[in-house]
Order: sequence, then structure tokens, then C-alpha cells
Amino acid sequence: MRKIIFLPHSIAWCGENGVIYLNKHLKEFDESLYKRILKHEQEHTMGIYNKQDFLLDFKNDISQWELLGFCIAHPLGFVQLCPIVKVKNIWFYSWLSTIKLIITIGVIWLIIKII
Ligand SMILES: [Zn+2]
Repeated sequence: MRKIIFLPHSIAWCGENGVIYLNKHLKEFDESLYKRILKHEQEHTMGIYNKQDFLLDFKNDISQWELLGFCIAHPLGFVQLCPIVKVKNIWFYSWLSTIKLIITIGVIWLIIKII
């Protein structure tokens, strides 16, 4: 059984030793989304991020729209998009997160424009 730690920010990720970090608001927000995210994180390997993890994230069927909906309801979820990420106690600058952040801001801007 993997250890699960609930946080008031971000969405979800699998950290060192397979520990799963989840936003504590996920379950109350949408139980189906919570279960799918938890299942996804449990499928990650316990070690260093590898090809298997990459393929898992690549074929990830959790909709970005659902995650965006969660972040709008719980804005601290956006912390997940922060381009500075901590991996094994070292802080990295993540280009992938920067791209995601730019796309997300673009989508929010578009939504605001349409409304
Ligand atoms: Zn993943």
C-alpha cells in the first residue's frame, strides 16, 4: 500500500519512494476524477521517472479540461503548473510546466473573452 499525502495545493503527483501527493479538495470536488487521478498515480513506478512513467503520462486519459475546472474551483491547484519543480530534493526549472502554464493562461484568457 502506497503512502498518500494530502496537500492544500497542486493537483497530484507521484514523488520519492512512490509516495502519492494529492490535493485534499479533489475528492469533494469530483469523486470520479479523484479515483481516476489516484489510479493514474498508483500506476507510476516507485523509482526515478523512466520510460514507463513517460508512456503512462503520454496516454493519460484524464482530461485537461477537468483539471482546469478543478483549478478554477480551487486556485491553489495552479501551483502544479509552477515551472519550478522539486525532484529528489533538487529544484529544477521545468520547460514543460512553462508551456502548460502559457497554454492554461491562454485558455483562461479565451474563456474570459467569450464570457
Ligand atoms: Zn503521471
